[in-house]
Amino acid sequence: MSKYWSEAIKELTPYVPGEQPKVDNLVKLNTNENPYPPAPGAIKALREFPMERLRLYSDPDSSALKQALADYYGVERNRVFVGNGSDEVLALTFMAFFRQPEPLLMPETTYSFYDVYCKLYDIDYQLLPLRDDFSIDLNDYRQPNGGIIFANPNAPTGRALPLAEIEALLERNRDSLVVVDEAYVDFGADSAIELSRRYDNVLVIQTFSKSRSLAGLRVGFAIGHPELIDGLERVKNSFNSYPLDMLAIAGSVAALEDEAYFQQTTRAIIDTREWTASQLEKMGFKVVPSKTNFLFAAHRYIEGAELMGYLRSKNVLVRHFSKPGIDNHLRISIGTPEEMQLLIDTLKQHPDMVVLDD
Ligand SMILES: *Cc1c(COP(=O)(O)O)cnc(C)c1O
Repeated sequence: MSKYWSEAIKELTPYVPGEQPKVDNLVKLNTNENPYPPAPGAIKALREFPMERLRLYSDPDSSALKQALADYYGVERNRVFVGNGSDEVLALTFMAFFRQPEPLLMPETTYSFYDVYCKLYDIDYQLLPLRDDFSIDLNDYRQPNGGIIFANPNAPTGRALPLAEIEALLERNRDSLVVVDEAYVDFGADSAIELSRRYDNVLVIQTFSKSRSLAGLRVGFAIGHPELIDGLERVKNSFNSYPLDMLAIAGSVAALEDEAYFQQTTRAIIDTREWTASQLEKMGFKVVPSKTNFLFAAHRYIEGAELMGYLRSKNVLVRHFSKPGIDNHLRISIGTPEEMQLLIDTLKQHPDMVVLDD
């Protein structure tokens, strides 16, 4: 702490992302990165980018990317907002919409960045518990609120809500905004982008970090009613005129063009996820049904912290949250089939593991 810190920053508890170790030879299954490289076209666009252009500022409106997203999702361009990763889009969203007299409602277990933003912007919020099976019960969200946010599929649980339930929520929650964070939607859930065409009270946020293998490029976006997008633009233009650099725009536009590669890699991850889930179940894990690129699983007898430490000692990194209620669970990102085989083999060698036969 320094005497130069303002009072407000002394109170902050920043988000702690999963470890990005500097050593090689680790099987990294702790931050939900995609094990496959970005689309060949995206790599090509970045390699062949005319670097001398970097002398100039990037397009403050990121028009090429907005147009590409509008075409891809079949919406008008004025329904698209882009930012430096969906974390930035979320930060601007909280600032633009959630500073309200009534509290923001969100699940007790969800992306842990949300309450960090609440503290940053001094937003009052209320956490609503999940059901015992870790699903979100949207009936709990029938109360006066200054907004609602959840991830769908949710993180770190992996469970997805059906669109009909989200639509019912939008029907009855007309006076405040519902934000659906769809960071993992491409791994098997249904997107609320379709609902955003008919409802002006929903904002859908997605990212290129997970399903498009571009976590390092930092590109996220939001789709919703033009007046919501306008609100985000007002905040963005009061904060940073050029959140997306030229390379991020070129790479993400090219990634959107390769639909076959996108389908192939997301399919591979879904297949590997289902294989891994069945292997874990044979070892005595309870695995939450997942529509994401990770599994949330707890072993019946061996504690989560113990397993995380054991795997770490064998150079396999998984995520463990020491939060009560989920502290027995591991969040395991889906890697390549080879990486998941290694995870399973390593777990089988744990001294207390009993493996059931097929
Ligand atoms: C990974 C993740 C994000 C952040 O994605 P970036 O675009 O890389 O900032 C947002 N929300 C959830 C739920 C995530 O898991």
